[in-house]
Amino acid sequence: MFSHSIRRHTQELIIFSNLQVKSRVIQAPTMVYIHTLTLLLLLLSSATTQQPPPDAVTRFQQYLRINTAHPHPDYPAAVSFLNDLAKSIPNLQTRTLYLTTPQKPLLLVTLPGSNPSLPSVLFNSHLDSVPAEPSKWSHPPLSAVKTDDGSIFARGAQDDKCIAIQYLEAIRNIIAKDPGFKPTRTLHICYVPDEEIGGFDGMAKFVESNDFKELNVGFFLDEGQASTNDEYRVFYADRSPWHIVIKAAGQPGHGSRMFDNSAMENLMKSVEIVSRFRENQFDLVKAGMLANSEVVSANPVYLKAGIASSDGKFVMNMQPSEAEAGYDVRLPPTVDPDLLKKRIADEWAPATRNMSYHIVEKGPLRDYMGRPLVTATNDSNPWWMVFKHAVEACGGKLSKPEILSSTTDARYMRVRGIPSLGFSPMKNTPILLHDHNEFLKDTVFLEGIKVYESIIKAMSSFEGTTP
Ligand SMILES: [Zn+2]
Repeated sequence: MFSHSIRRHTQELIIFSNLQVKSRVIQAPTMVYIHTLTLLLLLLSSATTQQPPPDAVTRFQQYLRINTAHPHPDYPAAVSFLNDLAKSIPNLQTRTLYLTTPQKPLLLVTLPGSNPSLPSVLFNSHLDSVPAEPSKWSHPPLSAVKTDDGSIFARGAQDDKCIAIQYLEAIRNIIAKDPGFKPTRTLHICYVPDEEIGGFDGMAKFVESNDFKELNVGFFLDEGQASTNDEYRVFYADRSPWHIVIKAAGQPGHGSRMFDNSAMENLMKSVEIVSRFRENQFDLVKAGMLANSEVVSANPVYLKAGIASSDGKFVMNMQPSEAEAGYDVRLPPTVDPDLLKKRIADEWAPATRNMSYHIVEKGPLRDYMGRPLVTATNDSNPWWMVFKHAVEACGGKLSKPEILSSTTDARYMRVRGIPSLGFSPMKNTPILLHDHNEFLKDTVFLEGIKVYESIIKAMSSFEGTTP
């Protein structure tokens, strides 16, 4: 919108100068006409320049309209937009890193601190979003339409393009109010690709780079989730995903025969045992004793068995010699992975019944010191105290810290022992990440900027010692 009007303005000036050249050789009545036209053009161009610059909400909408949804995210366009935005704010420095291909840039924005020897503070936002099914949406997912009640509809509105803009707008506001503002610690913001597909070409590569080591990060703030009530949610750990395949082998036989230890019989026994385990875990949630993210979830995702027949169905009079089941298992950091592995080996897939299993560990469970991937949310962690007070100082209230049911880039920091919190200031908002009709209200977005102003000032000016 903004660059468009500049372009129009330039075209008007070109017409204006052409008319002036021609006016030297034409008659008086025409001159009057040209003067009127000139005046009109001047008025028009001054009206154009007087247009208010886009506000924070408009800039949020502009960013939402850049398609960074998988499978073809336009990362260069998103980085170019954010880079321009950061450069429009005094004192911010930017750097684009290419850790894999030119199509997957990573943008690093820096507000230098007065004491660069202190560990820095790093805020994160991923550039990508999950795909959307436009036919299931009430507004096109890339339109960023704002309805009368202020709801802005777009894929990424909650996850997590809001925080990408809020970080920068918060710094803009801090500097506008106090042009001499210089934090004690250096503040960095990184905009990374590929979080939604595991972060392997994004955060995983970044943390391995010298560029990252040079940042000397002491605290990491990442995305969180919306809260449906008046309190902000904060996350101190992620659950770690395991993909488990359980296989049963057995003697094949005629469909009419009864014998022990067929592959199907053994797999079905195993499915029963896993289902009971799942039920027990779920009961703890239903009884209100533990949150969803505090138990081990073990959800069956596929079953595979049977012998295909030529008509695309199954041979009905044969008991197959192989059968398998796939599970999506999520482990909270409080669970001992070795104990769970023992349970799988002893109960879910016992070798005594011709069963085997394979676990694909999709993420780490312990940090480099062998500790669970958990960030302390008590006074043993000075960063937590500063964060909590900063949210409260601007009138915000935090709900009980939670474990995130899914996984974020924060795990790459916790593995390195860097305290990390997940936080997106969206209260009184339905949780719509990865859902149809994802939206965020403009008032919630703007309030979030105020919250980040408080957090950024407090975290970057924190002079205490950290473990
Ligand atoms: Zn996200």
